Amino acid sequence: MKENYNVVTLKGTPLILLGEMVSEGKIAPDFTATDNTGKEVRLSDFKGKHIIITSFPSINTPVCATQARRFNIKASSLGDDIVVLGISRDSQEDLHKFCAAEGIKSVVTLSDRKYGDFGERYGFLVKDKDILARGTVIVDKDGEIIYAEYVPEITDEPLYEKALEALENHLLHNKFTLKPLPYAKNALAPYISAETIDFHYGKHLQTYINNLNNLLDGSPLKGKPLKEIILHSEGAMFNNAAQVFNHEFYFETLSPTPKTMPQGALMEAIEERWDNFENFKKEFSAAAISLFGSGWTWLAKDKEGVLHIIKSSNAETPLTAGYTPLMTIDVWEHAYYIDYRNRRAEYIDRIWNLLDWKTVEERYAGL
Ligand code: MN
Repeated sequence: MKENYNVVTLKGTPLILLGEMVSEGKIAPDFTATDNTGKEVRLSDFKGKHIIITSFPSINTPVCATQARRFNIKASSLGDDIVVLGISRDSQEDLHKFCAAEGIKSVVTLSDRKYGDFGERYGFLVKDKDILARGTVIVDKDGEIIYAEYVPEITDEPLYEKALEALENHLLHNKFTLKPLPYAKNALAPYISAETIDFHYGKHLQTYINNLNNLLDGSPLKGKPLKEIILHSEGAMFNNAAQVFNHEFYFETLSPTPKTMPQGALMEAIEERWDNFENFKKEFSAAAISLFGSGWTWLAKDKEGVLHIIKSSNAETPLTAGYTPLMTIDVWEHAYYIDYRNRRAEYIDRIWNLLDWKTVEERYAGL
């Protein structure tokens, strides 16, 4: 069996790891272990889920107990498509006793004692000691290893936060999620009501996100950043991806405590193009009011840094023409119908009270 030196120590004494160590980007080898009832469990039983495998020398030491507990707490908050496997060479009886005493429910505790399969195939088996080394391996739902940590000193704790951060980033890249709003849902009243936020953000945007995730399943664009998906898609994929971008951009432009006027370089650029801010507002509002049907009105800058007011229909976004969007107003009826019924002009007139020019300035500066 392969021997790996200089990877881990036990209280400073070097240990030798046996087997094939794994690394990110590789396909996770399958293995068989037994659960705390003695039943055979294979890694492949959890196919389709994100799997956190946390390996420890023995459950009956304080650090190992902490490790199981920490992942247990986190696992219960991560959702249904994530499973945590805690594995050691403890006997199933010991694991069973420990889990019952500790209330460990969200971690599937496994024993590598009978087969030694995990230790060998993942390089966690410690030579001349009947233990596994400590560490964490995360396998994504396609069976690829996205994180692998062999804790250098076996008495230290694993990097819980780093492991979970890796998983979270991976999840975010592969699946879009509704970002929390940077304000309470009733904070934009009286201009935009909590009920509008419930529908516009909570239902319409959520639906675009769900649709996009469904369309990305099995697509070569899965895992790509949102902007790249927008630039390389058409039809339903484009519509949903662009609507996710447009809405996130819109909700992030709004603030209950906005900076009401631009300053500095942005203000100078606006004055250069439209003489003064009031004039710009008038032209922007006129563009938004006159947009036929559903769509968006944008302030954007081109590659030379020149500002433009752009009208876009449906899901269209200035990104596809190479503009940098700076500010937008959503003029789909669903953005205002609850609060203003059919009075789009009134909605546009009042939403200026929520547009945060500090955010727009930052976008203009490329921050
Ligand atoms: Mn909308």
